[in-house]
Amino acid sequence: MIDGHTHLENGLLTKEYVHQFIDAALKKGINHLCILDHTHRFYEFKDLYDQVCSFDVRQKKWVESKQKNSIQEYYSLIQEIKKEKLPIKVSFGLEVCFSPSHIDFLKEKLNEFPYDFLVGAIHSINGAIYDLHELSKEILWTKKDVDEIYKQYFDCLIQAIDSKLFTQIAHPDVIKMYEIYPHYDLKDTYIKIAQHACQAQVALEDNTGASYRYHHPEVGLNPLFRQILQEHHVKLISCSDAHYPEDVARNFERII
Ligand SMILES: [Zn+2]
Ligand SMILES: [Zn+2]
Repeated sequence: MIDGHTHLENGLLTKEYVHQFIDAALKKGINHLCILDHTHRFYEFKDLYDQVCSFDVRQKKWVESKQKNSIQEYYSLIQEIKKEKLPIKVSFGLEVCFSPSHIDFLKEKLNEFPYDFLVGAIHSINGAIYDLHELSKEILWTKKDVDEIYKQYFDCLIQAIDSKLFTQIAHPDVIKMYEIYPHYDLKDTYIKIAQHACQAQVALEDNTGASYRYHHPEVGLNPLFRQILQEHHVKLISCSDAHYPEDVARNFERII
């Protein structure tokens, strides 16, 4: 059993902290643990957040608060851990905040180290971050047409799939997290995503994060979306989006 998406974000980049995740995975019966961190943790990816920072000064402050390490520190940690004999398979990657206007930048940066896996994620809509609670509600959800938010989110997701930069796409329908829904049927969108993922041979996540971090009633993917992806034989990866060791594999028993 795999947990394809867990974050060191709230801890130090140390072997001891990685081992807390490995111990938690062992307890949950996970035999393949995928560890990643957001690109916004690393100074070298700062340019990726130009649009987000210029959109609202509070977002700029948020990005600055997240920037904590050099990517070199992460590479060194990965190399140290890979020298050890571990009780389960552990892979290391990045969760990349995808932005279509930064494809060339990403191509260069992501080639600098042989990551085991690379996850593409959409975290903002034209520069507005959609999941920062009250701030996102103020600058995005109450300002912009919901149908447009969904269309732009999924359009960007398809561009991430087609970019061939990634082995995996993060939380594909997490835009639903606040239970604010569009006025149009998403079935055609789900089919389009399945076709593109199939074509690009990219795996999609069945990510339980929104169910316990945002209390969304669906655990993982929307059931119709999951069914369509399965019918198209898209590879699905169970992911907890754990930001703490105790959340590794959380709610996996509830992914139907
Ligand atoms: Zn994410
Ligand atoms: Zn994540």
